[in-house]
Amino acid sequence: MDYRAPKGTTDVIPAQSYKWHYIESKIREVCALYGVREVRTPVFEHTELFLRGVGDTTDIVQKEMYTFEDKGGRSITLKPEGTAGAARCFVERKLYNEALPAKMYYLNSPTFRYENPQAGRYREHHQFGIEVFGAPQASCDAEIISLAWAVIQGLGVKKLTLHINSIGCPECRPKFNEALKSYFAAHVDELCDTCKGRLERNPLRILDCKSPVCKQIAQGAPKCIDHLCPDCKAHMEQLEAYLTRLGIPYEIDPMIVRGLDYYTRTVFEIISTDIGAQGTVCGGGRYDGLVEQVGGPAIAGIGFGMGMERLLLVMESLNLLPEEPAVTQVYVASLGEEARGPAFGFCNELRLAGVRADMDHVGRSLKAQFKFAGKIDAPFVAIMGGDELASGQVKLRNMATREEELLPLDTAAAAIAARLAQ
Ligand code: ATP
Ligand code: MG
Repeated sequence: MDYRAPKGTTDVIPAQSYKWHYIESKIREVCALYGVREVRTPVFEHTELFLRGVGDTTDIVQKEMYTFEDKGGRSITLKPEGTAGAARCFVERKLYNEALPAKMYYLNSPTFRYENPQAGRYREHHQFGIEVFGAPQASCDAEIISLAWAVIQGLGVKKLTLHINSIGCPECRPKFNEALKSYFAAHVDELCDTCKGRLERNPLRILDCKSPVCKQIAQGAPKCIDHLCPDCKAHMEQLEAYLTRLGIPYEIDPMIVRGLDYYTRTVFEIISTDIGAQGTVCGGGRYDGLVEQVGGPAIAGIGFGMGMERLLLVMESLNLLPEEPAVTQVYVASLGEEARGPAFGFCNELRLAGVRADMDHVGRSLKAQFKFAGKIDAPFVAIMGGDELASGQVKLRNMATREEELLPLDTAAAAIAARLAQ
């Protein structure tokens, strides 16, 4: 029996979880500023949803999904991305009958992809993502890019580049696809097997292939940006104007087509230039065809997914994560059997007053309790022994300055809480 975690998965141990909380609270704060509320959808969906909603010519669907049959014979897939589930929820819950645009975010959404694990690339990772339904205008594209930018910059990561591109719409894409087809047809023998299959069905996907040879060939491919219809062109120009207004620098990158099939027009990635590989922290785009594709009305959509682990990796490498706040602010130490009960009661009073308090359960000596308090970095120790009990007091020791003072026991919890709140 192998008791190690499956390949490509990790644990967040208790001493590390505060880092996640730190990022999560920043994300919730920024989402609130943009009027975005949280959505929670299941970790698994019917496989069909991803075939339709992600697209059966994508790497995700062709190579990376965790798909299995459940005991009822249904084909189930663990979420490989967040958008399809959110779109399914939007349609199934008829959220289109409510005020539009509907803006939602998901946080720490477990995301499963059968990939070759390496730093920043796992088989289970977690995404923060945004989906906005019902706003086809370019200002909305700029708004959600600005939200992602605000989150990452707000966490202190300053060296970012935004890459944008437009992959057109059902109006102009077919003509572009033809141009791509004839370009790649001339190189068909060199393409990887997956891309050979894509040539007829979805040549755009070849631009997204990770194989070095396909990548090399793709460098010379025609650019979608040169084949846009007037509406798509205008949309792109408006997006650029809004980004300029926001002061967000951008580069047009014709190689970004994104991994999903139902993207239209704007696609983008935000890359941290501080770490080398796996620096793409956020990827997103517009998917005006998706809601209809999964059985809803023709309603536009735009969103992004941000890898939490990648964000953490960047922050860790830049030393941007704060120290962990004191897990225990006051450690209640007791001397002798008769003091244990009062110490237990006082510890509870501290907690009721909002102080993070803890005490010994395993019968350590007073000396060992102090040692333990030092080990967990408790800034204060409250000492209760025979003398303190007899005089109705508790002794509070500041562990940094070694100063001690006596406080009346009946008001001590409130007094300590007030002091710590300052
Ligand atoms: P890549 O080109 O790196 O494979 P992708 O296009 O597959 O990325 P998206 O589908 O856009 O990635 O996912 C959104 C974000 O989720 C990525 O920008 C990245 O930060 C993160 N991410 C994607 N796959 C993984 C993974 N296997 N492990 C950790 N994070 C990931
Ligand atoms: Mg990928």
